[in-house]
Amino acid sequence: MHGTAKMVCVHRLQDPIEANLIRGLLMNEDIPAELTGESLVGAYSGIPKLCDVRVLVPEQHRGPAEAIIRRYERGRAIADRDWRCSRCGEANDPSFEICWSCERARG
Ligand SMILES: [Zn+2]
Repeated sequence: MHGTAKMVCVHRLQDPIEANLIRGLLMNEDIPAELTGESLVGAYSGIPKLCDVRVLVPEQHRGPAEAIIRRYERGRAIADRDWRCSRCGEANDPSFEICWSCERARG
């Protein structure tokens, strides 16, 4: 590995699909991210299987990479929350854009 930048781990997670998503976000920002534990993705066949995936970036990209991951996790925490319909008060799944009960648009 001589001549290449030192890779540092900026994130650890157990979902290889999410790991690939984070890698994509980093690549979009011109950060050449790599995953380790990726060989386990092939074993991921619909059966919930925990594994250990690490997101690695060259050391000089560490700060920006960590900021991107923090932003991603904050957004996900908000997106994972149910929202409450302003008309009928029903709780709605975060993936719904309209109320399941009265079909009022979200927001
Ligand atoms: Zn409603």
